[in-house]
Amino acid sequence: TANGTPRRVSILGSTGSIGKNTLDLIGRSPERYQVVALTANGNAEALAAQAKATRAEIAVVADEAAYGRLKEALAGSGIEAAAGPQAVCEAAARDADWVMAAIVGAAGLAPTLAAVERGATIALANKECLVCAGDLFMAEIRRAGATFLPVDSEHNAIFQVFDFEKKERIERIILTASGGPFRDWTREAMAKATPEQAVAHPNWSMGAKISVDSASMFNKGLEFIEAYHIFGIAPERIEILVHPQSVIHSMVGYVDGSVLAQLGSPDMRTPIAYCLAWPDRMVAPVPHLDFPKLGHMDFRAPDPDRFPAIRIVRETLRRGGVAPTAMNAANEVAVAGFLGRQIGFLDIPAVVEATINDVMAGPLGNQAVDHLDAVMAVDGEARRIAAGHALAHAAAA
Ligand code: NAD
Ligand code: MG
Repeated sequence: TANGTPRRVSILGSTGSIGKNTLDLIGRSPERYQVVALTANGNAEALAAQAKATRAEIAVVADEAAYGRLKEALAGSGIEAAAGPQAVCEAAARDADWVMAAIVGAAGLAPTLAAVERGATIALANKECLVCAGDLFMAEIRRAGATFLPVDSEHNAIFQVFDFEKKERIERIILTASGGPFRDWTREAMAKATPEQAVAHPNWSMGAKISVDSASMFNKGLEFIEAYHIFGIAPERIEILVHPQSVIHSMVGYVDGSVLAQLGSPDMRTPIAYCLAWPDRMVAPVPHLDFPKLGHMDFRAPDPDRFPAIRIVRETLRRGGVAPTAMNAANEVAVAGFLGRQIGFLDIPAVVEATINDVMAGPLGNQAVDHLDAVMAVDGEARRIAAGHALAHAAAA
């Protein structure tokens, strides 16, 4: 901070792609930060190494089976060790000023909300929080007086050019999409796609789940719902544009025809640095854009036939209620099934759609998703139903 006191920061999901990029930035000026809590799922050794390197106060694994390894790796360091989903929430609720929410999936909702309740500054990478519980999440941010900063590169870009004081003069948001590794593939080729091909993203290096989401374009769908909640813009004013170079990270169009964009290299350390330094700016060790070398930028509309995710997500937001929660959970199950080679790539949207329909027609179909328990009940029900649909696809293959 400006007065020289180190900023107290916690990172939920520190062993992941976003977590490591955040620690890379923090490690370049360690005197400016005091690391409070670091959390991971089961990679105790990597977590312990991070905790020792940053002199964190506590390290927590969500998976209780990893507790012994964590304790052993931290022995004699003076760093506290804990395990279990509840311990992750307690660590998230410690007195950090700034919390990076970078757990993947709905598993990040409870810990992130625990940090929100404390009124901390929340740098949110975990987009699934907003997809499965957007109304609840944004209401809690307001109620707790927490500061919300979007890490997702598109939303970070929009945040940088979005005039909150003249919101009624904003005509549209243009979410850019790289199109993912299957941008130019036929459906026949996609039907046979392997996990290795799906996670080989042309522009970004990311965790496995978001990489598959990127290939199916569910990632852009999740981001569409994320943008709707963060910026409070009507869904019909949110456009999706394929831009293969991933240089324009997104744009905001105003009523006078002006379109404002944020550009940068496809490196998550730029949006993370923006959130770490906000409202100031800090140096980030990213390649600076070389426009003559870039030469040109391309744009095209997304292809709804090859990427049904875009349509499914628009319909899901229109249906509202439990639909987005069910969609997110079903997608998590389907992606895991694809990564585990149980189902094919094109089974992902099929499992998701069938699950949304079943959940909406089932006993929880009219459930209000306005508190955490209700969200997790719908999430659990959708996971059970999606697992059944995935099994049916696996058997048919
Ligand atoms: P990742 O898989 O690399 O890391 C996920 C982290 O969450 C790890 O630390 C893992 O240990 C932890 N985790 C996993 N399951 C958990 C559980 N059940 N309980 C507690 N912790 C658990 O993922 P990532 O690529 O870093 O993405 C993290 C989030 O950020 C995702 O929601 C993703 O959509 C979003 N995001 C990522 C990028 C990117 O460039 N990687 C960009 C934008 C948004
Ligand atoms: Mg993104």
